[in-house]
Amino acid sequence: MEPGAAYGDGLAKGDSTAFHLQVLAILPEYVTAVLLGQPLTTTLREVGAHLEGCASCRTEAEALRATLEALYGHEAVSFPEPPVPDLSFLRTPPAPLGALAAAASGVQSTVARFLDLIVVQFSEPLLALMRPPALTRAVGLRLRYTYTVPQTSDDDPHITVEVLAPDEDDEQGLVRICIELPDADPFDQAGSTVFLETAEQSFRGETDHTGLVHFTNVPLDDVACWRIVVQPRPTLAQ
Ligand SMILES: [Zn+2]
Repeated sequence: MEPGAAYGDGLAKGDSTAFHLQVLAILPEYVTAVLLGQPLTTTLREVGAHLEGCASCRTEAEALRATLEALYGHEAVSFPEPPVPDLSFLRTPPAPLGALAAAASGVQSTVARFLDLIVVQFSEPLLALMRPPALTRAVGLRLRYTYTVPQTSDDDPHITVEVLAPDEDDEQGLVRICIELPDADPFDQAGSTVFLETAEQSFRGETDHTGLVHFTNVPLDDVACWRIVVQPRPTLAQ
């Protein structure tokens, strides 16, 4: 594959809002990897390097870590009554989930695969746990929900979903979905298709070179009804 000349300098590209958004989009994955003691990818190491010099992203990371520690700590493991996932729209059950997902099995999202599609739905109990601390802030928007979709294998894309909204607006927000293809370079992530279906609207987008898709003016009153469908970019023949 041709080296991405335009993005050849990696993540370290200064202090723009778009740059911080990139870091913030990857933060859940970064914090999860650190918490679980997993080896860091090149991209995640760049996130770590950025956090050393960026107080606002570091604050965000610390808030996320507190949330995830609660989620994957004693409270989550002893969660009394696991909600029954709504599989009514599927014929096939979710594929087996990884260790991380097992730790939080009581509050799992519905993740299923048809052909090359990955379908994600949230349950109400999961949404409660996806709420980050109230003080978590990102460039004027408040992070309302954040979620990393469990992978079933190393070949799966890393999928993170974040819902942000201005403090004064509970009705509409920004949905940021990051699809990171493990077999592609960090800045060669374009071309995956993402659908977000709310109760009344459908949004469709394609990932940019960093794997990000943004949907704006998304109604937030029915997040538990959302369905997110990801069609990863087809693997190119080597
Ligand atoms: Zn930053």
